[in-house]
Amino acid sequence: MREWTLDIGGKEWAIKFVQPSRLPDDTEGMCYLHPKKIHVANNLAPERETLQIGHEIIHARLWDLDHAAVYELAEAINTAFWRSVNAK
Ligand SMILES: [Zn+2]
Repeated sequence: MREWTLDIGGKEWAIKFVQPSRLPDDTEGMCYLHPKKIHVANNLAPERETLQIGHEIIHARLWDLDHAAVYELAEAINTAFWRSVNAK
C-alpha cells in the first residue's frame, strides 16, 4: 500500500491510499482525527487524487469548516495547481 506522512498544523498525519471498498459508499477519501490519518482511494486519476488529498488536508487542518467551503477551496487550489503544472 502506498503510504506516507505529512505535517499538517504541526502534527504528523498518515496519508494512505486504500482500496475503494475500504471507504464509505460514494466517497473517494476520508479524514480521521484519532489517530490522525487520511485515506484516499487508490484508483483515482492524478487530477482526482490531488483534489481528494487537498480536500482531506483542509478537513485535517480546519475540522469545523463547512463542507461547501472545503469543496470550494479544494477545487480552486487543485484547478490552479494543474493549470500551473500543465502550463510548464
Ligand atoms: Zn469532505
